[in-house]
Amino acid sequence: MSNEDKINGWCRDCGGFQQAHPDSRPDEPLCVGCGAVLKRYEELPTGEQANYRFQKWFSDVVQRGMNGPSPGGAAAALQCHRSMIDKLVDRGVLEKSMYDKDGFFVVLISHRSIEQATANKEKTGKWTDSGED
Ligand SMILES: [Zn+2]
Repeated sequence: MSNEDKINGWCRDCGGFQQAHPDSRPDEPLCVGCGAVLKRYEELPTGEQANYRFQKWFSDVVQRGMNGPSPGGAAAALQCHRSMIDKLVDRGVLEKSMYDKDGFFVVLISHRSIEQATANKEKTGKWTDSGED
């Protein structure tokens, strides 16, 4: 059985999209993490489908290395005003990910871009590489 053949599904207990345990039956895929029965997307009630879509977005953000604090948290980390965060996002210094669907509203500023902005500030006294601000 190749990886692609493994049935994946939603595990409510783990709160995520999980691979089926290799020993579970195809008609009853079990979560490799906790052993609960995995559900296919189509089998989920509407609310869980929304949750699933959000979790999928978030795991993609994490995979791309884009996870991080909220803009408020980023402002605290950089010890700057909240409005500076939007400016730095516009300039491409800070990386922003946003999810605004199904009643979820999340904005994240990536840790790595905060680290880069901090490094710029230490090196040049400015947030940007070009040294405008
Ligand atoms: Zn599970």
